[in-house]
Amino acid sequence: MAGPLNSAPARGLRRFADVNLAIGLFSALLIAGLWLYIVTKHQNEYRETVSAAFRQSSNLAIAYEEHIARTIKGLDSALQFVRHEYRRLGRDMDMARYIAEGVIDAQLFTILSVVDGNGDIVLSSRPFEPTNYADREFFKAHRDGSADMLHINRPVLGRVSGTWQVPMSRRLDKPDGSFGGVVVLSVDPGYFARFYQKSDIGALGLVTLVGLDGIVRARRVGNDLSFDVDMTGSSLLNQRALQAHGQFLSLGGFDDIQRYVSYRTLSEYPLIVAVGAAQPEVLREYRRNSRRDYAMALLVSLVIAGFAALLMVTLARQKRAREALALSEARYRGAFEQAAIGMAHTSLDRRFIQVNQRFCDMLGYTREELLGRPAAGFTHAEDSRRATEERQQLLSGLADSLSAEMRYVRKDGSLLWVNRTISLVRDGEGHPLYFLRIVEDITERRKLEAELRELAATDMLTGIPNRRAFIARLEEEHARIRRFPQQQAAVLMLDLDNFKKINDTHGHPAGDSVLRHVAELISTRIRAVDACGRLGGEEFSILLTGAALPAAAEFADRLRRAIAGSPTLHEGLSLAVTVSVGIAALRAEDEGADAALLRADRALYRAKESGRDRIEVDDVTQQPRPAAGSA
Ligand code: GH3
Ligand code: MG
Ligand code: MG
Repeated sequence: MAGPLNSAPARGLRRFADVNLAIGLFSALLIAGLWLYIVTKHQNEYRETVSAAFRQSSNLAIAYEEHIARTIKGLDSALQFVRHEYRRLGRDMDMARYIAEGVIDAQLFTILSVVDGNGDIVLSSRPFEPTNYADREFFKAHRDGSADMLHINRPVLGRVSGTWQVPMSRRLDKPDGSFGGVVVLSVDPGYFARFYQKSDIGALGLVTLVGLDGIVRARRVGNDLSFDVDMTGSSLLNQRALQAHGQFLSLGGFDDIQRYVSYRTLSEYPLIVAVGAAQPEVLREYRRNSRRDYAMALLVSLVIAGFAALLMVTLARQKRAREALALSEARYRGAFEQAAIGMAHTSLDRRFIQVNQRFCDMLGYTREELLGRPAAGFTHAEDSRRATEERQQLLSGLADSLSAEMRYVRKDGSLLWVNRTISLVRDGEGHPLYFLRIVEDITERRKLEAELRELAATDMLTGIPNRRAFIARLEEEHARIRRFPQQQAAVLMLDLDNFKKINDTHGHPAGDSVLRHVAELISTRIRAVDACGRLGGEEFSILLTGAALPAAAEFADRLRRAIAGSPTLHEGLSLAVTVSVGIAALRAEDEGADAALLRADRALYRAKESGRDRIEVDDVTQQPRPAAGSA
C-alpha cells in the first residue's frame, strides 16, 4: 500500500519531461526535414531551370548563327553577282531587269548601288539623286585596303532611303587592280533580327548581332529594336575575348534585366550572335512554385509547431495536475503518518489496507502485523455488533461519519478505550472505496472519569460510600424488590452513642479516628452483595440484601458487640464506643427507599430511647397502627 504514496508520482513527472522533450525534438525534426526537402528540391529545380535556359539559348544561338551566316551569304552573293555583271557590262548593266527576273532578290535589301572610285553612285536598284559616299566608312575601308572581303558596316542613316541601314559592301577593282569603287547594299537592321520571331525566347528574350568592332548591327528585345550601340567593354565582348563560343549570366547592362546568354562567333564574318533568355521569364514558374511550396511548408510547419505546442501545453497541464496531486498526496501522507491520533483505512471487506504509526502503537502491533488482517479481530466483542451496524449505516448512505466510544483489544490482551470516528470514503461517482477510521485513545480519560466517579461516591474521612452513593444503591435494591416482591432486604441505621463526649474529651481527630475504625469494622463485616455508607456525622447505614428482619437483627447485634468490643486505638488511647442500631425491611409497596430508611431511623430512635448500645427492629405488626407507635 506504500506504492501510491511513494515514488510513483516522481517517476511520472520525469516521464512527462521526457515526453515533452521528445515531442519538441520530433516536431523540430519534422519541420527541419520538411524544409531540407523543400530547399533541396528548389535548389535542384533552380539548377535545372537555369541549365535548361542555357541549353535553350545555346540551341537558339546555333540556329541564329546559321541563320545569319545564310542571310549574309545570300546578300554577299547578290553583291558579287552585281559586281561581276558590272565588270562585264559596265554602266549598261540593267539592274531593274535582274530584279524583275528574280536573279537578285530585292526583298533582302533596301537598296543596292554601284559607286565609282570618287564615291558617286553610278547605278542603283532604286531611282536616285546624285549622291556621294566618299566619306562613308565602307568606302574608305575598300579604298584603303586591297583585300577582297565583305565589309559589314555599322548602321548608318541612309542617304537615299533616309532610314537606318546596315551597309554591306565589296570592293570594285579596275582592270589594273587599282581602286575602282564599291558595290554596296543596305539592309534594314531589323532584317538581322527577324530570327527573334521564330525563336520563342519570351517577351523579354534577347537576340543580338554585334560586330567584333563592338558595334551592334541589330538587337531585339520584344518589340524594341536597337542598333549602332557601342558594346565595347560589355560582358559579352569580354567573354568573347576569352572564348569564341560560350554562355554566361548577363547583368543586364542596358535594361537591368539579367539574362542567360549564349553567344557564338561567326567563323566567316567578324560577327557575334547572342541569344539570351530573360531571368524573370525563365524563373517565373520556378518562383511561382517556390512561393507556393514555401508558403505550404510554412503552413505545414506552423501546423506541426502549433500541434506540438498544443500537445505540450496539454501535457504541461496534466503535469501540473499530477504535481498538485502528488503534493496533496504527500501532504496527506505526512498528515496521516505524523498524526497524533490513530488513523486506519480498511477495505470494504474490512481488512486493514493502511495504518499509521500511532494506530500501530495504540494497539501494540507492527504495521506488517496489521495490514491485510480483518479489522473485526481487534474490536472488543461487546462493541463488534455496534461497529457492524455503523458500517451498514455508512454504506447505505444514512450517515457520512459516525463517532463512538468503544473498546479495542491490544496485542497484550489489555483493553484500549477509544473514541473512534468512522467514515466511508467514496470516489468521484459516489462508489464506496474504503473506510477511514480516526481513533483517539481515551483509556486515560476513562480511568480518570472512573476515579472521579469513585471519588464522588466515597466518603472522604472513612473511605466507604457516602450518603449519595449509598442512597443510590439503596434505591437500586428497592427497585429490584419492587420487581421481585418475594425477595427481601433489610436496612440498618447506626448511630454512635454519646459521640460528642469523645470529641469533647479527646478532641476532634480522636473522633475522626473512631469514625474510621467503626467504618472499617462495618465494611469488613458485610458481604460483597451488601452495601454500607456513612450518612453523615457519626451515622452509618447498611443494606443487607436477601436478609429477612430476624437475620438482619442477628447480624446487627453481632456488629454492635464487635464495635463495643473493639475500641479505637488513638495516640496511645483506647477509645471505646458503642452503637445503637435501628432495623427495617425494604418493602415493595413503598414509594421509595427513603420510607425504609425512615422506619429504620424510628427504630434507632427507640434504641436510643431504650438506653443505647442496643438494636431495635421496626415493628412490622405496629405499622398499620401508627397511633399505637406514638403512644
Ligand atoms: P447520642 O448518643 O444521643 O447520639 O449522643 P451524641 O453525643 O452522639 O449526640 P449527637 O448525635 O447530637 O452528636 C453527634 C456529634 O458528632 C456532634 C458532632 O460534634 C460529632 N461529629 C459529627 N461529625 C463529626 C466528625 O466528622 N468528626 C468528629 N470528630 N465528630 C463529629
Ligand atoms: Mg447522631
Ligand atoms: Mg450519636
